[in-house]
Amino acid sequence: MPNTRTAAAVAPSLSLAVVGAGPVGLSLALHAARSLPRAVVTLFDARAAEFDIARDPRTLALSLGSVQLLERLQAFDAARAQPILEVHVSQQQPSFSPLGEPELRIRAADEGVPMLGAVLSYGEIVAPLQAAWLAACEREPARLRSRFGTPVAGIKTVEGVSGVEIDAGIVEPFDLAVVAEGGVFADQARKALTHDYRQTAWVGQLEIEAGTSGTAYERFTRQGPAALLPLKGEPGSTTQRAALVWCVPSDDDPVAALDDAQRLTVLQSIFHPAVGRLAGVSPLKHFALGLNAERTLVEGRAVRIGNAAQTLHPVAGQGLNLGLRDAFELVRALAASSDIDSVLRRLEWSRAPDRWGMIAATDFLARSFTWDLPGLAAARGLGLAALQALGPLKSALARQMMFGSR
Ligand SMILES: Cc1cc2nc3c(=O)[nH]c(=O)nc-3n(C[C@H](O)[C@H](O)[C@H](O)COP(=O)(O)OP(=O)(O)OC[C@H]3O[C@@H](n4cnc5c(N)ncnc54)[C@H](O)[C@@H]3O)c2cc1C
Repeated sequence: MPNTRTAAAVAPSLSLAVVGAGPVGLSLALHAARSLPRAVVTLFDARAAEFDIARDPRTLALSLGSVQLLERLQAFDAARAQPILEVHVSQQQPSFSPLGEPELRIRAADEGVPMLGAVLSYGEIVAPLQAAWLAACEREPARLRSRFGTPVAGIKTVEGVSGVEIDAGIVEPFDLAVVAEGGVFADQARKALTHDYRQTAWVGQLEIEAGTSGTAYERFTRQGPAALLPLKGEPGSTTQRAALVWCVPSDDDPVAALDDAQRLTVLQSIFHPAVGRLAGVSPLKHFALGLNAERTLVEGRAVRIGNAAQTLHPVAGQGLNLGLRDAFELVRALAASSDIDSVLRRLEWSRAPDRWGMIAATDFLARSFTWDLPGLAAARGLGLAALQALGPLKSALARQMMFGSR
């Protein structure tokens, strides 16, 4: 007869399904593997493990908090990352303004941190996470399982049973499903709270002569926000590289018809002179922009995190940072209690200030570029100038951007 006491003591406490191996799902799975030693973790993704994620054209600004979370997972590619030492936000003035050009400068040195964040491409963020996850699966194959090339078709809460059924070709039961299926606004089914900004983000790379390395620039223009994220320099190169996120109205898109030379001329006129002389622009790819968010994260024993919970406008570069905090908070709560239902109930309200604060801030900023209100640009400029003048408020904003609400 088996020794039931011993069997109970070593029995896994939780069978966890993670749907989606983007940066958020991979971080959740890796962190759960380490922090929940008795959990059996199965990670599903529709794409094959060998799929070339470097094809994703996004370059992302990670906050300092996100850099620290990825470092904890030993999945931060410091060699490729460009630290952000300064953030420079300014507004292009339509004509002469007695205020001059309002600007806000946040410096890592002033905030007492080594960097405000770091810049990496989507592929450079995902590759080390995936490598670390696959290595963990090889070390513990009975507990950690990868199902790449396996789309999940449905997640069903079974009446009267505490758990979920995952339909990925065959139907399997789990105690908990974490939905991190992400996606971008154009491809997603509409969630409870949705708004199409009718804006397009054009993304690519710029070559800059005599630029300042380590400074991220954000420029508010009449048509929308435009950002330049510093990239690691090529050895021996005399120019700097920066990633471009250029948001414009989708109706009557002013960028689509321009050739590279024309785009370069327009970009030079848009960005603050401190950026330097723009010497070249790569072919640009585009994303449709919208807000697409769930009102509630939890449905039965399924919980949504990352872009599957909220897809934001990139105006503040916070979507992934928020998603990584979703993942870490969920694992922290599961490590602290074995009562899954009460963990999920508490998570709903414990994530609320960070989630709703970020959703409201990005939504307000994104919509403000579509309002044709007299004095609006001046008010936004005054806001920037006030933040620059008020040291403690500026530091509070810097902390919010680096670490979220905590
Ligand atoms: C132009 C632009 C610029 C941005 N800039 C920034 C920035 O500077 N900083 C920042 O923090 N954020 C930024 N973001 C947001 C950021 O890209 C996203 O928040 C982040 O990629 C979301 O990660 P995720 O893991 O939740 O989803 P995803 O990256 O979309 O990953 C989801 C994964 O789930 C898989 N999947 C989907 N459906 C299924 C299914 N049914 N079954 C199995 N697997 C499935 C997919 O194959 C994919 O691998 C930007 C976004 C855009 C569009």
